[in-house]
Amino acid sequence: MKNQHQGIGMTSQRTRDRLITRLREAGIVDERVLEVMASIPRHLFVDEALATRAYEDTALPIGHGQTISQPYIVALMTSVLLGDEPPLRVLEVGTGCGYQTAVLASLVKEVYTVERLEPLMKGARRRLVGMGNRNIIYRLADGSLGWPEKAPFDAIITTAAAPELPLALREQLNVGGKLIIPVGEDTQELRLIVRTAEGYTDELLELVNFVPLVSGKV
Ligand code: SAH
Repeated sequence: MKNQHQGIGMTSQRTRDRLITRLREAGIVDERVLEVMASIPRHLFVDEALATRAYEDTALPIGHGQTISQPYIVALMTSVLLGDEPPLRVLEVGTGCGYQTAVLASLVKEVYTVERLEPLMKGARRRLVGMGNRNIIYRLADGSLGWPEKAPFDAIITTAAAPELPLALREQLNVGGKLIIPVGEDTQELRLIVRTAEGYTDELLELVNFVPLVSGKV
């Protein structure tokens, strides 16, 4: 895809590298994730008017009341998801602008991504296909129900906060599979749920602030 910002200071490789330094300082140590995030042009995932802010470690508006997640949170969730044995098939709920999708698609075999707002889904697909991604499968639907026809997954990542843990999601995990999801309303907990042979483990990773996961008809 033609990158009209290439060469402009605010969106140069040096600007991108500063974000990576900032992520290291914030405690991100996974080199696989840092390398991929250094290579993905985050400014192409936001409106041109916000492009100069795309390498700040902050969430930004993407229209329709939604946001592109803070880079630190993308890096944290992706590091936890990869772990020692990177998953092959990953379900992402909440495509938004597609930035987290792009990060995942560079690190795992297949990404199944679900978004409930059509204009965001279309924009994300156009961008991601334009950047040459061929291992992403898109769906316009309520992702709180998962994607039963494509289940089970090795990992599921949700980038919108569920009021309560959606049980359909953890049921679509393989044994050993991970669900990374923010849960809660005012106070949101980013949780890591792992499916074991006997049931599930549940761990609190961090307090976070996501837009809400909206259930029901699209
Ligand atoms: N990973 C995205 C985050 C976008 S914000 C990014 O970095 O851009 C969260 C997204 O979740 C929004 O686009 C919102 O429309 C979507 N969303 C909310 N509830 C959903 C649901 N039930 N199913 C699918 N997508 C949902």
